[in-house]
Amino acid sequence: MEKFDLVVIGAGPSGYAAAMRAIDFRKKTLLIERNKVGGAGVTNGALSSKTWWELSRETASFRKNLKRFNLQEPSINYKEIQAEVMRAVEERKSMLEDHMQLLGSSNHSDLLIFKKGEARLLSPTQVEISNGFHKEIVQTEHIILATGSRPRYLSELPIDEKIVMTSEGIEDMEDFPESMVIVGAGVIGCEYATIFSGFGKTKVHLIDKGDRILPFEDEDVVKVIERNMENSGVLIHRKSRLIRMEIKHERVEYELEYDDGNKEIFNVEKALVAVGRIPNYEDLWDDTVNISISKRGIEDNDTQTNITNIYAVGDITADISLVNVGELEGRYAVERIYGNPGPRKLVYENISTIMFLNPEVASVGLNETQAREKGIDYRVVTLDYSCIPRAIAKRNTQGFIKLLVTNEDPMRILGVKIIGNQASSAIQAVALLISMDKGIEELAECVHPHPSITEGIQECVRMLLGKSLFKPDALKGKLSCRQSLSGVYVDINF
Ligand SMILES: Cc1cc2nc3c(=O)[nH]c(=O)nc-3n(C[C@H](O)[C@H](O)[C@H](O)COP(=O)(O)OP(=O)(O)OC[C@H]3O[C@@H](n4cnc5c(N)ncnc54)[C@H](O)[C@@H]3O)c2cc1C
Repeated sequence: MEKFDLVVIGAGPSGYAAAMRAIDFRKKTLLIERNKVGGAGVTNGALSSKTWWELSRETASFRKNLKRFNLQEPSINYKEIQAEVMRAVEERKSMLEDHMQLLGSSNHSDLLIFKKGEARLLSPTQVEISNGFHKEIVQTEHIILATGSRPRYLSELPIDEKIVMTSEGIEDMEDFPESMVIVGAGVIGCEYATIFSGFGKTKVHLIDKGDRILPFEDEDVVKVIERNMENSGVLIHRKSRLIRMEIKHERVEYELEYDDGNKEIFNVEKALVAVGRIPNYEDLWDDTVNISISKRGIEDNDTQTNITNIYAVGDITADISLVNVGELEGRYAVERIYGNPGPRKLVYENISTIMFLNPEVASVGLNETQAREKGIDYRVVTLDYSCIPRAIAKRNTQGFIKLLVTNEDPMRILGVKIIGNQASSAIQAVALLISMDKGIEELAECVHPHPSITEGIQECVRMLLGKSLFKPDALKGKLSCRQSLSGVYVDINF
């Protein structure tokens, strides 16, 4: 029986990162994958959906510019766009695979073995790998479970991945549907609503239980996103509950019940169900192994499961499901196993996130909704994109920056939210300051490149310090500087 120091099950972002970190410790590592290397980080997930989003955004801005110059719009070909997405997916997947192969001819040659197949734990130290009729068992000292997640199926919905789809089927359509309903107004549902409405070929319907989409998000952010969605033709069914969905004559019929008791029936070409994901742990271990799980996934203690030599990372755990978090956990688990986690604890509080909407929304730390829920007093400044030269040059000043700091001196950053063009790049300056536990003065004094969106963040900080270029009491509506004390706003006047 072949013996390894470490077996990693699943070659998505978290498993791949774990295996590569184990090589740094010169451990003999086996990485097992039953499907595609890169997992949902690449295929039917993060990279593919972001490629759709980028292409949709470019198409929408191209259309807008043609209109501006009174030029006729060319027609958009679905198959060409789909092929471009597939090229992006293949490029990344091949890179990950080629890298593993090339390691074989480097000085890491005897360390990483990759096997294709379905893995199952027979005991805490034995793993069975099945590939068709071929089965083999390997021995290992440690195991990292990185088997990820899959879309949640609701039994009452006729999901066939052709007409009623999840993220697994949505990228394989034959053409742009003329209409599509999206069940679930969370991040993934809203991202797909943005993508399909952006191409201008699909009438998108979005079912929303509440009175606004993205219920965890600040109201001012949601307002901009909803307005843009509606301007690009998205029909948001607010305060509604899906009571029936059927496939009829190769189309989708669905019925909604609104909070006021009214009911309405709609007919669309396709449906996308985006109601969350569930962890992949069924059949992953033999009954004798007994790893503790909850409904949300494996319950781990800083990546270690209740079985001391078995670790769990990424979407299979009950923590945040993101590529960067999965990679962080994968690397951390290996460092824990081999005794070198360093001074950094595994913390989830200040993870930077992006929502790929119109426009993009980037965040790090707390938003106002969370600060209020936690009963924290804070100071908050907002600055409209129209005050930022780079946004003016881009001819797109829609958006704003919002910075939250503690209510005492010296002020420390609680969180920042940027909604607008290049938000995801601009957020990094603040994310770094938060992770280094630095105050805001550093940001105020640093010389940023001009013109850049980060200058807007600097202006926010200077407002808080009473030394901004533009004064909030003069430019009301574009700038604001307030305190929230026990949930009540008070303007700050310098
Ligand atoms: C539509 C969509 C968009 C997303 N967008 C973003 C985004 O913009 N940013 C972001 O950070 N995150 C995004 N995510 C989330 C992100 O893709 C996941 O958090 C991430 O892929 C999780 O990585 P993972 O390695 O834990 O799991 P996965 O990526 O799911 O990989 C797990 C791997 O394990 C394999 N596997 C499972 N069971 C076995 C077994 N028994 N034997 C062998 N192999 C097995 C699977 O085949 C799979 O390849 C998105 C997800 C979706 C669905």
